[in-house]
Amino acid sequence: MQTLFQAELAIIGGGIAGLWMQAAWSVRGRSSLLIVRDPKPGNGLSAPSHSTNLGRPSGGGLGDGQTIWSQGIIHGGLKYALGGEATRASQAIAEMPGRWLAALEGRGEVDLRGLRPFADRQHLWTTGGVLARLAGLAASKAIRTPVERVEPAERPEALRGAGAGVDVYSVGEPVLPVRGLVRALAEPLGDSMLAADEVVAIRSDADGVEVEIVCAGRTAVIRARRLVLCAGAGNPGLLAMAGLSEARGSSVSEMQRRPLHMVVARGPLPMLNGHALGASSKPRLTITTAMGDQAGPGERTWLIGGEIAEAGVARDEAAQIAEARRELAACLPWVSLAGVRFATGRIDRAEARTADGQKPDVPVVRRFGPVVVAWPTKLAFAPLLTDQVEAELVASGLAMSAGGGRESMGWPVPRVASYPWDREGTAWR
Ligand SMILES: Cc1cc2nc3c(=O)[nH]c(=O)nc-3n(C[C@H](O)[C@H](O)[C@H](O)COP(=O)(O)OP(=O)(O)OC[C@H]3O[C@@H](n4cnc5c(N)ncnc54)[C@H](O)[C@@H]3O)c2cc1C
Repeated sequence: MQTLFQAELAIIGGGIAGLWMQAAWSVRGRSSLLIVRDPKPGNGLSAPSHSTNLGRPSGGGLGDGQTIWSQGIIHGGLKYALGGEATRASQAIAEMPGRWLAALEGRGEVDLRGLRPFADRQHLWTTGGVLARLAGLAASKAIRTPVERVEPAERPEALRGAGAGVDVYSVGEPVLPVRGLVRALAEPLGDSMLAADEVVAIRSDADGVEVEIVCAGRTAVIRARRLVLCAGAGNPGLLAMAGLSEARGSSVSEMQRRPLHMVVARGPLPMLNGHALGASSKPRLTITTAMGDQAGPGERTWLIGGEIAEAGVARDEAAQIAEARRELAACLPWVSLAGVRFATGRIDRAEARTADGQKPDVPVVRRFGPVVVAWPTKLAFAPLLTDQVEAELVASGLAMSAGGGRESMGWPVPRVASYPWDREGTAWR
């Protein structure tokens, strides 16, 4: 027995790309269904979308993949400005904090009023040396995001112990608790989300697509006029399943991975969201405080990325933790690490391939017949990605009109993924 769903649009992938799109389209009353991989434990399927040292492999669910690992920074261009570039990317990204703030205040294209708490700004601090200080100053002039020098008495608790040689700036780029974000986007979607142990087939012709999924022994077929692939690292496999990977007109349907080895620190740590800036244009450490995880009383969890996560790909877990301790002692010598324990995890950024292997600047959208592939490039770009996909769908002849059934007919709804470091088996060192 197959369950049949019909909608104008189907999306595969419950990361930020798929979730934002479904939320925006749901507000506009579009007929759209979001298919989210959420395999039930013990069904024998292996569904890791990333490998990790942190306990068991990823279990699927809403946000699983790059999104749940994301540091939640709604970039407004600071990172680009640090490199002295006023690129296409910095112009496009400069508008993102405003669009997210509108959503947080309930006047945007999706409603994120339920999402609290979040930091409305992050901090940038220099780690000594003239070069680092100059880069900090350059940043304050080069971007539209408000960057203000913070006097010692005004600094957040985590940066209050900094000595005279350290400059601190505040940057108007909000930082969001990612799990809370996923929950807030998903909550109103209810029946328009379908959990899947697996997508087993995609068939396409000139009229549209059929996606076949299985969940807990049941099969469903979703018929839609267009399919949007928002499956991150899973996009190439799904395109191939649809028989479309050969049809590409450019190399953009191909994916590139940029591996990261992230560090997680947990203990009596102060709240901190920001970048430690060294002599290079890349932040030495990017530290965000994870909200809504399972830290104990009086404890906080820091997610640590930046240069250490890129260079740390070649290190094993013990070496990466040793390096993290060294870097924290160098960049935040006034913060005590007594009682702080560490874990690490590996996750690949999955992006559209670029000719030079560098990170794409902006979201990438490509259409192959009735199938559109969408790569946000950054969490912050989710609103722009939705605009671009919508433009592509309109260009393909779809009316994008309101209306249509969203009945899930009792089909299971996906759960919100847990933070990787909260999964069973995480070994803290
Ligand atoms: C460590 C890290 C930190 C980051 N920090 C930031 C930041 O601070 N700010 C920022 O703007 N960006 C950040 N990014 C980038 C950002 O997280 C990503 O660009 C974004 O999350 C990608 O979203 P996505 O929805 O395309 O992919 P994903 O989040 O990877 O979601 C893809 C979804 O598709 C599902 N899927 C995969 N294969 C299949 C399949 N075959 N069938 C069905 N479903 C499938 C997966 O389970 C997953 O849920 C960070 C990235 C990383 C890795």
